[in-house]
Formats: sequence, C-alpha cells, structure tokens
Amino acid sequence: MNHPTITRFSAIFLASLALVACGGGTDEDLDKRGSPTSVNTLPIAALSQAEIDSLLYMREEEKLAGDVYIRMDALWGRSVPVFSNITASEATHTEAVRQLLQRYSLPDPAAGNAVGVFQNPDLQALHNQLVAEGSVSLIDALKVGVHIEELDMVDINTHLASVDNQDIRRVYESLLQGSRNHLRAYYQTLLKQGGSYTPQYLSQAEFDAIVNSAMERG
Ligand code: MN
Ligand code: MN
Repeated sequence: MNHPTITRFSAIFLASLALVACGGGTDEDLDKRGSPTSVNTLPIAALSQAEIDSLLYMREEEKLAGDVYIRMDALWGRSVPVFSNITASEATHTEAVRQLLQRYSLPDPAAGNAVGVFQNPDLQALHNQLVAEGSVSLIDALKVGVHIEELDMVDINTHLASVDNQDIRRVYESLLQGSRNHLRAYYQTLLKQGGSYTPQYLSQAEFDAIVNSAMERG
C-alpha cells in the first residue's frame, strides 16, 4: 500500500479527480497533476465510526450512480452521449472512495460485486427502482440522472457534517463538484428533449442556483 509507485499514482489520480469529474480539459489536467494539493499529502488521522460508516456507504452510493448510468447508456446511448460521459466520471468517484478505504485499511463493500450488485440492501433496492424508472423512456432516464445527482449532493453534504479528516473532506468536495456538473448536464439534456423536472431533495432555489451557473473546472 505504501509502494512508491502506487502512492504516486494515487496522488496523480486524486489530484486530477475534479477535472475528470466534468469531462476533463487536458491542459489543465497536466497542471493539476503537478499540484501539491493532492489528497495523499494530507495526514491520515484517526477515523470516527461515523467516518467509517460514511466511507462504506459512499463507496456504494457512487457505484450506484455509475451502475445505473451504465444501464441507461445501454438503453438510450444511441440518442444521447450524456450517460456514457458521466459513467466514466462516476468510475473515478467510486474509485476515489475505494482508495480512501484502502488508505485506512478498511474492507471494500463493493469488492467482487458486478454492475448492479450492492452489499447495502437500501442501495440495492434504490438501484433496482431507478433502473426500472429509467427504462420507460429517454425522458424518464434523464430524470433519473437528475434525481441521482440531487440525492448524491444532499447525502454528501450530510456526511460532510460528521467528517473532519481532511483527506475524506477533500474527496467529498470533489464528488460534490462532479455532482453539480452532472446535474447541469442531465438537466440541460432533459430540457432539450422536451422534459421538465421538480427538485425532490434540493430546494427549488438551490436547484436553480446550480443549473443556472456554469460548469466548474478543477
Ligand atoms: Mn459521483
Ligand atoms: Mn454524478
């Protein structure tokens, strides 16, 4: 785990996480890779039970987003590229949480689990429900995308309230930024397809503030 090559890879990976989250700009990615503000420069502090529970949950919640989008891309990918683009971003998100679990020698709840399989029964049920909803039409699938991003933001913000380790906070802030960008992408695509959406977790004001602001980088 402390092999220098792996540590170096992790630092590069996590430093470029935020950019990858929104599709990435290659020049900026290169700048970020040299940045000293990578997660692995931050201390490994003692974990509270809330932080342990949070990491285990977040690993699978980010997997859920990616796994649902994989299914939606298989169904609707010929019509829109958005599911494919964001699937790639979610893979970096769940991997970032897996690296935190590894950093703290915690078991990975997603180890060996295929796409669509979850250890947490609530997330398994949510996954199945969202795949069913998104299978009805492209509009429904895009609404599922907005729904997942809203939920992710609210959950991450709730978890941040009980997380003080700086490395975990850094990763969660990156996940939040990714979710804001994903919300913008899904909502814009939904509008283009003639759909509409009423926020279910964010207030209308919070929702509007995000979708009416520009994509974020780095
Ligand atoms: Mn995510
Ligand atoms: Mn997302």
